[in-house]
Amino acid sequence: MTKGDDWAERARRALVRTIAEEVIETENWLGKRALDPRVMEAMAKVPRHEFVAGAQRLFAYENRPLPIGHGQTISQPYMVAVMTDLSAAGPGTRVLEVGTGCGYQAAVLGELGARVTSVELVPELAEGAARRLERLGYDRVDVHQGDGARGWPPDAPYEAIVVTAAAFARVPPALLDQLAPGGRLVIPIEHGGARRGLFRFGPEQELLVITKDAEGRTSERGILPVAFVPLLEGKGRPRGH
Ligand code: SAH
Repeated sequence: MTKGDDWAERARRALVRTIAEEVIETENWLGKRALDPRVMEAMAKVPRHEFVAGAQRLFAYENRPLPIGHGQTISQPYMVAVMTDLSAAGPGTRVLEVGTGCGYQAAVLGELGARVTSVELVPELAEGAARRLERLGYDRVDVHQGDGARGWPPDAPYEAIVVTAAAFARVPPALLDQLAPGGRLVIPIEHGGARRGLFRFGPEQELLVITKDAEGRTSERGILPVAFVPLLEGKGRPRGH
């Protein structure tokens, strides 16, 4: 490690402590007080400052999303840790990520030893992430450009699927098809807003975990309210809007 990276390692350790505290604060949603230690170790290793550009690097180890261009963001580290934990990915797990962005979530999964296929709709982001992940040595991560709402059939089935953009109202059927029996699908779903009595509530997103049993039956569990950019389909318009 070069001397210039010391600050980053220290900043990452502080970030991991912040994440651990936020997990405790949200224990009622998560149903646990701590995430898998292997997930926390991976968070302590991935150099998040390599995934953002210019002035954003100053904020790379703050626990919040940051802009990465093309109207997109790098996810909040707490959310990346929670989704990785919910995916239960470990060494050798076959994982599909939908929404590569800059490649940070994919790198965390790769750091855990998972074999990752990641699909990104925006060609420039897909290309940038592929180059960055290669430069950083994440050779178990493959990035493809395409509409991830259709999954990535060549590498299916997947033991875990992590979607990092919010689908409107329903889980894309292709993702359910490509989930292996015993697998877990982690996905934010946006509901169109609801009317309760005199009040209208705006669109709401909830993080869901869908599990498929050995017979192929699925069941879902809502975890916590979230805020993701929309999952777009092919033409670049938010699905259902
Ligand atoms: N996983 C990223 C967060 C990405 S934000 C991280 O680690 O920080 C969500 C990403 O989903 C954006 O880059 C957006 O371009 C992409 N996206 C939106 N709709 C998509 C689709 N249908 N298929 C693939 N990627 C999509």
